Amino acid sequence: MRFIRKLNLALLLGHPLQTGREVFQQDLFEAARTPYQPPRPEHKLVKMAKWKRCAECAKDKIENRTDNMCEICQVYLCYTTSRNCFEKYHT
Ligand SMILES: [Zn+2]
Ligand SMILES: [Zn+2]
Repeated sequence: MRFIRKLNLALLLGHPLQTGREVFQQDLFEAARTPYQPPRPEHKLVKMAKWKRCAECAKDKIENRTDNMCEICQVYLCYTTSRNCFEKYHT
């Protein structure tokens, strides 16, 4: 009986704290190991003559048209102050 009660307490209190600490330590380890972002091709938007559906908005079944296209990915993406699908798409 006493053993079971101790085990339950460990599961209730110890377990979530322990996993939280492990994740935190792993993050620090990762940060120390990779101080810089691995090189990626530079994505940049180009203005197109035609307006087409934004690929990122299409995922949410929203029809937004834009004349901005990522040169690398060859996809149309919104790029306004209220909606930055360009950033969303690449992160
Ligand atoms: Zn891109
Ligand atoms: Zn969009």
